[in-house]
Amino acid sequence: MKNKPSRQSIVEQIKNLFKRAEDIADKKPDVSKRTVKKARAVGMKHRVHMPKEVKHKYCKKCNTFLKPGVNCTIRLNQKKQPHRVITCKECGAIMRVPYKK
Ligand SMILES: [Zn+2]
Repeated sequence: MKNKPSRQSIVEQIKNLFKRAEDIADKKPDVSKRTVKKARAVGMKHRVHMPKEVKHKYCKKCNTFLKPGVNCTIRLNQKKQPHRVITCKECGAIMRVPYKK
């Protein structure tokens, strides 16, 4: 029987994959996307949510690592429920992220 990896080690693994995806996002966008996809698969397999540091750094639709001003735009919406609107320039997906002041 294999040892079950700890939740902490899974989170570390996900963060490392995201870091790699960020590093290669400019040079190898395809590999970067695959890396994000892999990180998500790891989280899903072990039923671990994406760490909050990386939660909104990728496009849920096309797995692109999102860099503000490069391949995504972030708008703030200050209406009743304040939220950020993140638009992926790769595929046009729009994500709304609520935040508290
Ligand atoms: Zn996208």
